Amino acid sequence: MKNLFFLILVLLFLESCSEENQSETEIQSKPNIVLFLVDDMGWQDTSVPFWNKRTPFNDRYHTPNMERLAAKGMKFTQAYATPVCSPTRISLMTGMNAARHRVTNWTLHKDALQPMETNHKELTFPRWNVNGVSPVPLDLAVHADALPAMLQKAGYFTIHSGKAHFGAIDTPAEDPKAIGFDINIAGHAAGGPGSYLGKNNFSAQWRGGSEVWDIPGLEKYHGQDIFLSEALTIEAKSAMDSAVSKKKPFFMYMSHYAVHTPIETDKRFFQKYLDMGLDETEAKYAALVEGMDKSLGDILDYLEERKLADNTIILFMSDNGGLSVHGRGGEPNTHNKPLSSGKGSIHEGGIRTPMIVKWPGVVAPNTSNDNYLIIEDFYPTILEMAGVESYNTIQTIDGKSFSALLANNTPGQTQDRPLFWHYPNEWGPKGPGIGAFSAVRLGDWKLIYYHLNEDYELFNLKNDIGELNNKAHSNPEKVKALAEVLTSFLKEVDAQFPIHKSSGEKVSFPLN
Ligand code: CA
Repeated sequence: MKNLFFLILVLLFLESCSEENQSETEIQSKPNIVLFLVDDMGWQDTSVPFWNKRTPFNDRYHTPNMERLAAKGMKFTQAYATPVCSPTRISLMTGMNAARHRVTNWTLHKDALQPMETNHKELTFPRWNVNGVSPVPLDLAVHADALPAMLQKAGYFTIHSGKAHFGAIDTPAEDPKAIGFDINIAGHAAGGPGSYLGKNNFSAQWRGGSEVWDIPGLEKYHGQDIFLSEALTIEAKSAMDSAVSKKKPFFMYMSHYAVHTPIETDKRFFQKYLDMGLDETEAKYAALVEGMDKSLGDILDYLEERKLADNTIILFMSDNGGLSVHGRGGEPNTHNKPLSSGKGSIHEGGIRTPMIVKWPGVVAPNTSNDNYLIIEDFYPTILEMAGVESYNTIQTIDGKSFSALLANNTPGQTQDRPLFWHYPNEWGPKGPGIGAFSAVRLGDWKLIYYHLNEDYELFNLKNDIGELNNKAHSNPEKVKALAEVLTSFLKEVDAQFPIHKSSGEKVSFPLN
């Protein structure tokens, strides 16, 4: 009897060992995932054409490493973000649409609306989630299970390098580690760099700016002649080394501060753009883009040298359209042509961004996909890529996995799916498509509902990619049909709206 008991104990022990070993093997065979997110990069800021023809911008910008990635992966010509940083980044990290997570404008200070919202003459803005995302219940923040925390639970070593901008100052998520990153390189609450230059200690002091923009954690580069995009890449490679030595698959969120303002000089690339005849600002901007592209190349080289490339998925994306309304050389609102407008706008120039996915063995190389998708789709897709099959989250996920689009590139697969944007906020500058709005895209049509005047723009994007012909007056049936779809979604997610100061009335739903 005693011997039998002992035998059972031994068997149970062996069983538990084999389970552990099995799961460790499973974890080690998972693919590495690199999510390369660029800040404020426009759809045309690249030598890779994302339209059906090359444009002069494709000849202006030099992004040889994006070309290299596109040759090995799939381009998406209609990938969407939101018009500004925070709503995109929170959708990416939670899988929720902005109307649902309510981090609808950009975050920085705890519990505080931005001055351009508090000082608005005509609208009173709702108490949106100014504190960003939070891993614990917190006033004015969306409480959610963030993507890196989900991947960490699935056995991933999770690396954050660059711009975080997940939570306001003095809230838990100002530190990326609070939402599931094992390593944080240079991320904090702010959504822009004080300076790109090591010589400026990556601080805003050179321009008399606030210390909230001072980039944390890169002290060893202070005073050196190094550009921020380069420093972030060196640190990111070293973090990937740590993952490899731990024998764990890694998720690396390479979240560049580039190409956000301040548009400073990256001397490595600046002169050639001046020589091309660009004005100084545009030459600096193009150099900022090429420095970001070099980082992509360095990471591709690293993965190849370490023999990790065949087991690493790379997703390239931007968080909103290219800045165009101010701060750039040349004519405002033309920097994303043929698209209208830029960052801050619901026109295509503000939301359509360059996207490429390389997934060895799954995605056919050198392909282009015209199906549309939106930023919250990255959450379920990346979890699927990581082999996380069934999971529960605190939050309701709006995103749909686009893994089927990666495996099977058939046109028209998304034509029946509505995409939604909601921005009951104020960004500041005036320009085409800029201002508080709700919008829906369904098939080739896009309806925009502006909160201030409660009026519409309706565009057929297939025939009119530049959104020059507003069809709202000539096609009231389409306006009504799309307004119904949009209203139904906004009601479902209990979307917030501004109040008209003149009447004290809340802005009506698109279909009232
Ligand atoms: Ca941005």
